[in-house]
Amino acid sequence: MAEYTPMIQQYLSIKADYEDAFLFFRLGDFYELFFEDALRASQELEITLTSRDGGKGNRIPMCGVPHHSSQNYIGQLIEKGFKVAICEQVEDPKVAKGVVKRDVVQVITPGTVMEGTLLDEKTNNYIASITPLDEGYGMAICDISTGQNTVKIIPEDLKSVCLELQSLAVKEVIVPKDMDDEQVKMLEEFYQFTVSKEGEPVIPEDLHTITEDLSSHALKDTGNQLISYLVRTQKRSLEHLQKFETVEATAYMKIDPNSKRNLELVETLRQKQKKGSLLWLLDKTVTAMGGRVLKQWIEQPLLDRQAIEERLSIVESFMKQFFNREQIREQLTEVYDLERLAGKVAYGNVNARDLIQLKRSLQKVPAIKDQLLDMDHAGLQQRSNEMDPCTDLCEILEASIHEDAPISIKEGNIIKDGYHAGLDEYRNASVNGKSWIASLEQSEREKTGIRSLKIRFNRVFGYYIEVTKSNLHLVDEERYERKQTLANAERFITPELKEKEDIILQAEEKSVELEYELFLQIREQVKSFIPQLQRLAKQISEIDVLQAFAVVSESGQYRKPIISQEGRIRIEGGRHPVVEQMMNRQDYVSNDVHMDDERGVLLITGPNMAGKSTYMRQVALASILMQIGCYVPAEHATLPIFDQIFTRIGAADDLAGGQSTFMVEMMETQYALTHATERSLLLLDEIGRGTSTYDGMSLAQSIIEYIHDNIGAKTLFSTHYHELTVLEEKLSRLHNIHVKAIEEDGKVVFLHRVEDGKADRSYGIHVAELAELPTELIARANELLADFESEKKQGRPVEKVESKERDSEGQLSFFEPSDVKKQENKNTAPHPALEKLKKMELLSMTPLEAMNALYELQLSIKQEKQEDSKWAKSNN
Ligand code: ADP
Repeated sequence: MAEYTPMIQQYLSIKADYEDAFLFFRLGDFYELFFEDALRASQELEITLTSRDGGKGNRIPMCGVPHHSSQNYIGQLIEKGFKVAICEQVEDPKVAKGVVKRDVVQVITPGTVMEGTLLDEKTNNYIASITPLDEGYGMAICDISTGQNTVKIIPEDLKSVCLELQSLAVKEVIVPKDMDDEQVKMLEEFYQFTVSKEGEPVIPEDLHTITEDLSSHALKDTGNQLISYLVRTQKRSLEHLQKFETVEATAYMKIDPNSKRNLELVETLRQKQKKGSLLWLLDKTVTAMGGRVLKQWIEQPLLDRQAIEERLSIVESFMKQFFNREQIREQLTEVYDLERLAGKVAYGNVNARDLIQLKRSLQKVPAIKDQLLDMDHAGLQQRSNEMDPCTDLCEILEASIHEDAPISIKEGNIIKDGYHAGLDEYRNASVNGKSWIASLEQSEREKTGIRSLKIRFNRVFGYYIEVTKSNLHLVDEERYERKQTLANAERFITPELKEKEDIILQAEEKSVELEYELFLQIREQVKSFIPQLQRLAKQISEIDVLQAFAVVSESGQYRKPIISQEGRIRIEGGRHPVVEQMMNRQDYVSNDVHMDDERGVLLITGPNMAGKSTYMRQVALASILMQIGCYVPAEHATLPIFDQIFTRIGAADDLAGGQSTFMVEMMETQYALTHATERSLLLLDEIGRGTSTYDGMSLAQSIIEYIHDNIGAKTLFSTHYHELTVLEEKLSRLHNIHVKAIEEDGKVVFLHRVEDGKADRSYGIHVAELAELPTELIARANELLADFESEKKQGRPVEKVESKERDSEGQLSFFEPSDVKKQENKNTAPHPALEKLKKMELLSMTPLEAMNALYELQLSIKQEKQEDSKWAKSNN
């Protein structure tokens, strides 16, 4: 260390405290990076890597970015998940002795971004803290830009915690310092979170209130860990952080992250876009805060009947009282993001324009209150009465801040005349001085007789008198002191001009200084309104979401759902809201859904592309819509309150995680079967498709039986195994339904109509034809299908078939003729595999055990086959 220059030594000692961040070290107008940071940053930011003398001729790697454009570079690093420690000069270089003192003033991290392009206005930016408990984890979530804090216990493993964090799009996770390395690696590498470690929490006194009301040590610990990290990295006021709200596991409908993805609640499955999701459909909010709350609501449908009914009834009022709703909407469009603004106030980075926006937003509140009060709804009237328009704050801002204030808070022109006597005096002095100068110009013209004489100002000379060359002979040489000679003019000053100039300039300088001071005072005053502003933001955003529900419900002709206490589903003329929206409305075929205790499991058959998944999702989305308080796309809807929704839909390969589609399918099924209750909704789409026919079909059947007999959750199960439709005779609460398709001129026509009973066939080849597979291939498939069907009827063995994995009506039956024949040939007793299968107690097995057992059975048959073929070869 001693070999380095004092500045590099200073750099190294600061860097030692910020190992995990890029250290942006301020040198003049640049932020410089050194050593390893320089090597990495030059790559990540594609900037030139240079070097500098670090002492005793040691060249050390260096790269830098200009201070004025640093935001852009910092943004790039943050977006890639890195942290950036901003190290500034903290003393005036003019008075510094030796190396200028420097210190880190803020660490910017993916989870602590406060403004700029990295923040989407309608999306919360979350940072989380997790702490391991004896059982499960404590989890705290904070959006530092809005100050919102929640905390809860997750009684599950780290993987479940990660999935939950992922589904909230958490960017950064704080963990205890001593967390297991393997676990940290999993968070960082597998789940791609930025991970930060925090030791024993250190929290300033004034922030103790944030966690003080939490009911357990576990909750407090994880909350404190988060706050401590924020204090340590942000190094500024965090007064806008709200008290932690405990989220009870039983407060909201549980939708596990997989199901959220499958149902495309906030983004689409494949493209990961908002467009095409439920959020996109519902987002008729007009404020940024409303947009964020809508997303939170979609992710947390309610369970409390009264709360659901309250929201529904408000939506009803907004539907009926169109005029009031439109008035409110209009006012809301001019309400600025109060929540994030409160955060900026606490952080100390609001400018005068923000405060003008704040004032204009607050000025809209009385009209919103009036409209709400005027509505025919006691709940809305109460909300109106509870809304505090922060009149005092509004008045302060109205009296103090100029409407056209500039962005900069250091250049004056912010504060209104009449707000502060001292400021007015300076301004008068300056204005008077200026008018004195204007009159001086006039009197000098008269005295000298030079009509073109001008008094001007520049930063170098201040005020001066300018006379053109042709008039120089008229100048009063005694009074005029020459200052500058130009090509065709001369510039002069006079003592009285300089005297006035001093007064004007001093007054201006002082007034700018005073304005800055006054602005800071006003900002402090605004700070004291943060809790009121946050409360108002919450009230306004809820109104915004509820009016959005009314707008969507009206344009989509949705109906107010009725809550069933008996677990009954009766949807008539139901539609999938997003599919309907994406296509020509009149082309959508609406369908009914009837389920109750007697009709608890619906087994759906029908060709691929017929609309089975759409039908199933429609039920889940209708439930979610109702439980967030929105109307439902149907002619009529009666729905129970579901405690949880599980889906196993589509082929969501988790290849990055090294898991096959089938394994994912089984894991999702396992999760659903172990967590679902009688009050849950289960959507299982084509379970068993990912493996061979026998495997798949046996699993599908055993899963249906298990749900039917042991869980009792309302279940929609789509399948292409037509064989399963016989279950209707065996399982009393299971009913077959199918999505109708007809054949016209040899082509399949999907009617998308759901009817009772089973489908007549699969139409797989027709779908392949629609997908434009080669014509000869389709012809061959039709030929093979005909063979299969006739062979099946005649009980002859199937020829030319190597795999049993077929997906059509011609599926091989369980006791396929070829097997039977083989057994006859061998003249033996029933195959031992069949014996084993018969004895299996499927109902007491978990799906995974069933899968393993099947795997073994299959293996034993395969081995036998190999031996047979070896034997055949050796006999040829
Ligand atoms: P399946 O699950 O049977 O393979 P999907 O539910 O994925 O079929 O539906 C396939 C396509 O059919 C959908 O993308 C949609 O365009 C259309 N579709 C589904 N249901 C309907 C409906 N009720 N009315 C009109 N079109 C529908």
